[in-house]
Amino acid sequence: DMEAMFSLRDTKPAFTDRESAMEYKPEAMKGGTDITFHDVEFAYPVPDAQADKQKTRPILRGMSFNVKEGTTVAFVGASGCGKSTILRLLYRFYEPDAGGVNLGGTDIRDLTAESVRKSIAVVPQDTPLFNDTIGYNIHYGDLSASFDEVVEAAKKAHIHDTIMSFPDGYDTVVGERGLKVSGGEKQRVALARAILKKAPIMLCDEPTSSLDSHTEADIMANLKEVGRDTTTIIIAHRLSTIQDADEIIVLHEGKVVERGTHWELLAQG
Ligand code: ATP
Repeated sequence: DMEAMFSLRDTKPAFTDRESAMEYKPEAMKGGTDITFHDVEFAYPVPDAQADKQKTRPILRGMSFNVKEGTTVAFVGASGCGKSTILRLLYRFYEPDAGGVNLGGTDIRDLTAESVRKSIAVVPQDTPLFNDTIGYNIHYGDLSASFDEVVEAAKKAHIHDTIMSFPDGYDTVVGERGLKVSGGEKQRVALARAILKKAPIMLCDEPTSSLDSHTEADIMANLKEVGRDTTTIIIAHRLSTIQDADEIIVLHEGKVVERGTHWELLAQG
């Protein structure tokens, strides 16, 4: 394990901040959380061949769209069409091969990765939980928050009552990789964690896929309430999750093929 840890420490990131990179301060300007992709092309690097930039098949092929500050936009499209990849580029796990990603009008490569990540809360498809208490796992979203704020976030994510029904309440240990909690509970812990972060941008990758439709509807209503000033991107397969989005963007083979409200898209057939 020590060897693995040291080799991890020695791993060089694929890219580092530019020397001229600035702090991302979305609150300092109007439209600070506007998100724009322009003609983004991207392929995942082949791990062994990263050095000579040999690439796999293209995933994003001229992806262009914009998300205005304070709106909620949903992405739909066939499995594997590149929806989660968009979130990974926004969170700067990867950089585009061509084109660019702008946040608040600035190319994301001119902003420090740390300041960008501070401003974005993510509900990933599969949430990593620590083998610690359920309370800690929510608190992790913002370790400076008070316990009352943790409870408030848990209530918004509809997990508070479930936690209170556990024998040890918030002190219940979730087990290795969260084995002792169900998929739906894990998803709500992830939501509570993201809500607690109170970031101006929220990225949700199928945030309610493991939940029954009642809980889903309640959570979506709460997310709307929480996210009134938040710029939100939601990826979902279920229509019920995205129906209320300000706009739905339809992807096909790494490109935007249609966009509009639910009713506009229906009208277009
Ligand atoms: P789903 O709806 O099933 O979650 P998605 O639209 O979110 O799919 P992505 O996760 O963005 O799809 O993946 C797009 C394509 O990129 C897929 O074909 C996937 O196999 C490939 N891919 C994803 N991650 C990697 C990676 N780290 N390395 C290589 N290829 C990857």
